[in-house]
Amino acid sequence: MNTPHYIDGQWVAGAGNDCLVAYDPSLAHPIAELRSADRVQVDQAVTAARRALPAWKATPVAERAALLRGFAEHLVQQRDALVTLQMRNNGKPRHEAEVDVDDAVATFTYYAALIEQQDASSDVALAAPGFSSRTRREPVGVVGLIVPWNFPLVTSAWKLAPALAAGCTVVLKPSEVTPLIEQTYARIAEQLGLPAGVLNLVIGQAETGAALSEHPDLDKLSFTGSNGVGSQVMRSSAAYCRPVTLELGGKSAIIVFDDCDPDQAVEWIVAGICWNAGQMCSATSRLLVQDGIAETLLPRLQAAFAALRVGNPLTDAIDMGPLTSAAQWHKVAEYFQIARAEGLHCLTGGATLAREGWFVSPTLYVDVPDSSRLWQEEIFGPVLCTQRFSTEAQAIALANDSRFGLVATVASADLSRAERVADALEVGHVWINSVQAVFVETSWGGTKGSGIGRELGPWGLAAYQSIKHVTRCLG
Ligand code: NAD
Repeated sequence: MNTPHYIDGQWVAGAGNDCLVAYDPSLAHPIAELRSADRVQVDQAVTAARRALPAWKATPVAERAALLRGFAEHLVQQRDALVTLQMRNNGKPRHEAEVDVDDAVATFTYYAALIEQQDASSDVALAAPGFSSRTRREPVGVVGLIVPWNFPLVTSAWKLAPALAAGCTVVLKPSEVTPLIEQTYARIAEQLGLPAGVLNLVIGQAETGAALSEHPDLDKLSFTGSNGVGSQVMRSSAAYCRPVTLELGGKSAIIVFDDCDPDQAVEWIVAGICWNAGQMCSATSRLLVQDGIAETLLPRLQAAFAALRVGNPLTDAIDMGPLTSAAQWHKVAEYFQIARAEGLHCLTGGATLAREGWFVSPTLYVDVPDSSRLWQEEIFGPVLCTQRFSTEAQAIALANDSRFGLVATVASADLSRAERVADALEVGHVWINSVQAVFVETSWGGTKGSGIGRELGPWGLAAYQSIKHVTRCLG
């Protein structure tokens, strides 16, 4: 931890004033300390990325693709260590930590293939005679990448793989809460012999992030995190009129129609709010349940929540781990207090657990009014709020009545109804009779307050490419 930052191909000590502490959230014990990167080091990283850009974008696509496959191979080789590190620093259950490694591997593999398949240049058919034109896809340039702590391996892969595939050079700023995981990417870059400056890593808190997002020499910023910080980094980018991709928060709905198998529905609802202890931008934290199934479903849901095994992923057999940080634990505890003050009806949970570590109970509030802060705000914990509806139109209106628009789940045995509802929802991704299934070929991103732009799929690559046309007079 003495040299945690990777700048211009070198591991360097942090020059920042603050000391970051990484914790094991199951024990609330420190596991590592490091000094953050300061503004000068962020500048050195951006300068290195700028210097490396001409050679990297001129590197043949086959070579770039081979390097991306190298990332995937190294991740596979380090799978066990990465799983353990995520259990330790994020508090993820083992099977969830495994899914994250597999997702990161799939992302690098996918973008290696996609960049090889894509024509860097293609002809455009013109209606007007006498001219020809061709499209060139060029890398956007030097990109700043700022990510949160809830899926560090995955969120960074979703940015790094398409950016490097496109021929961009990058400066990655991981979250101060999970400062260890993304070092893996820098180590792999070093092992693969990625040219110095192509991938730089600067770790730190808000100051380090602000130094990056405010840097005048970036060509683009891609940010995943909260709405408050998202709007700040957008303002910084506005000063230079440069593009941003923003992946922000959510308050997503899961709509359960009364033709569902209630036990299957319970499984989807639990996974949608308790995976990663609810610390998911895409958590389906608002349950809309049709009148005809509510009386059967809610007691089963209550029992399922109460039966979840909450504990330390490294020592216990668990279904759900702790919250990842003390700050997140305090935030969720505050929402429990707000719920009490608002007089919400809690069927189960609603409290922190009296043991070492940052644990809370899976929590279920029923008949939560629209005016409740818990209905409207992103909590980022295993806290589910429910309302009932009678008609399809009501369900759609309730689901869309949110300033966010990230995802939704629709559960119904009537597939044509489910497809109709999916089309009417104002979100970036809808799951029908499934939950939180993210495939690298499909897009990721939100509408309304959930962000700007898309990651994954060809859209995730296009986010790091700039379009140029070369038009020639044939006369
Ligand atoms: P956050 O906004 O507090 O921090 C995100 C990153 O921004 C961190 O690296 C942080 O150090 C950095 N940062 C903080 N202040 C900054 C500043 N002033 N300038 C530049 N950078 C700054 O978010 P978080 O608490 O780490 O993550 C939780 C949030 O992320 C939730 O709102 C969640 O919904 C969102 N999220 C969204 C997606 C998505 O794909 N839409 C995915 C994961 C998380």
